[in-house]
Amino acid sequence: MNINSNYLKLEESYLFSTVARKVNEYQENHPEAKVIRLGIGDVTKPLCPAVVEALVSASKEMGFAETFRGYGPEQGYDFLKEAIRNHYQSNNIVLDTDEIFVSDGAKSDLGNILDIFSEDNTVLIPNPVYPVYVDTNIMDGRKILYMDANEKCDFLPLPDYDIKADVIYLCSPNNPTGAVYDREQLAEWVRYAKHHNAVILFDAAYEAFIENEKYPKSIFEIEGAKDCAIEFCSLSKTAGFTGTRCGYTVVPKTLVYNEISLNKLWLRRQTTKFNGVSYIVQKGAAAIFSEEGQRQIKENIDYYKENARIISKTLTELGIWHIGGMESPYIWMKCPSNMDSWTYFDYLLENYNIVGTPGCGFGKNGEGYFRLTAFGSRENTIEAQKRMLNGKIEKA
Ligand code: PLP
Repeated sequence: MNINSNYLKLEESYLFSTVARKVNEYQENHPEAKVIRLGIGDVTKPLCPAVVEALVSASKEMGFAETFRGYGPEQGYDFLKEAIRNHYQSNNIVLDTDEIFVSDGAKSDLGNILDIFSEDNTVLIPNPVYPVYVDTNIMDGRKILYMDANEKCDFLPLPDYDIKADVIYLCSPNNPTGAVYDREQLAEWVRYAKHHNAVILFDAAYEAFIENEKYPKSIFEIEGAKDCAIEFCSLSKTAGFTGTRCGYTVVPKTLVYNEISLNKLWLRRQTTKFNGVSYIVQKGAAAIFSEEGQRQIKENIDYYKENARIISKTLTELGIWHIGGMESPYIWMKCPSNMDSWTYFDYLLENYNIVGTPGCGFGKNGEGYFRLTAFGSRENTIEAQKRMLNGKIEKA
C-alpha cells in the first residue's frame, strides 16, 4: 500500500494554532487583561428566528411516521433548490434547479469539485487567499501558478494572457483582503477563461455583504460566465450557518469541455460520493430565502457591516492604509511602521490587548499586512477602536 505522497508536500499551517498559543500565553501572564478578538473568521450572531422556527418544525416532522424522511435527493430537496433559484432570479439570473447542488458548505464543494478535473490541469490561484484552494490542489499533485495580489492592483489581480491556466480561482468579496471585483474586472476574467478554454471557480461565500450594485454578487451577472464558471455559495456568513452547515454550488448546463458536460460529471460525483444534507438543515436553509428570513439575516449582516465601518474609520483616522470592510466583513490593513505581520500581531496584543490575523498566513504577499474582522460584538469593536485611537488600554 502506498499513501498519497502529495499530502507530504502540504505545508503545516501554524497560523491559527500560533495565534491561539500566543493569546493563551499572554492571558496566563496577564490574567487581568481583557483581550478583544478581532481575528475571528467565525460569526457570533445566532441563527435568526425564521431559521430556528423552521429547524424546530422540521425536527418535529421527523418524529412522526407520516412526515419522517430518510435519504433525500443527493443534490438537495426541490423546496430549497426552488428557493435558491428564485433568489438568483431576483438578481436577474435565470437558472434551472438542476444546475443547483445543495451541500454541507462551500469548503466541501471547493475541495470535492477537483474530482472532476484532470490532475494534469494547471491552476491559477491569487496570493494571498483562502488557503483551501492551494492545499486541495497540492493534495492532488496539480501544478499551481500564483497571481500576485498587492497594493498596486488593490489586491484584485487581473488576467495576464501570457500565462495559460486551466482552472482559475476567484474569491469576491475576498477572504482575507475584503477586496471586491467590479463588473468590468470580472468580465475580463470571463474573457480570459474563454480565451484559454479554462474554467473559473468563483467563490461567492461573502456575496451577502455586497450592497453597491457596482459589484456583482454572482459571476453569472457577467455575460458569457455560464459557459466558463462554477459558483460556490455558502450560508455560513450569510446566515450564521458555520455550525449548522449548508451551502450550494451552481454548475451551469452550458459548461461543456471537450463535449463533456461538467454539470453531468458533478451530478455523477455527488450521487456517488455524497448522500445529501439533512432534511432539517435544508428546511432551516430554505427559511433564509423567505421574505422574513431575508429581512432578519440582513439585520445581522448590517450589524457586522457597521462593525467593519467602525474599524475602517479608525484606521483612516490613524492614517493606516487599508482596504475591505465596505462590502465585506474583512478589513485588510498594512502593518504600521513597516512591521512584519507577526511583529504587528505581538504589538497589538501587548499594547492594546487586541487579536487580529497576520496576513502572512494567507500567502507570501500577505506579509506586512494584517486582517481584522467585523464578526465581533459592537461593544468589543468600539472598545478596540478606542484603544487603537488613544494609543493605550483604558484601565477600568
Ligand atoms: N470560502 C471562503 C472564501 C471562506 O472564507 C470560507 C470560510 O471561511 C468558506 C469558503 C467555507 O465556507 P463553508 O462554511 O460554507 O464551508
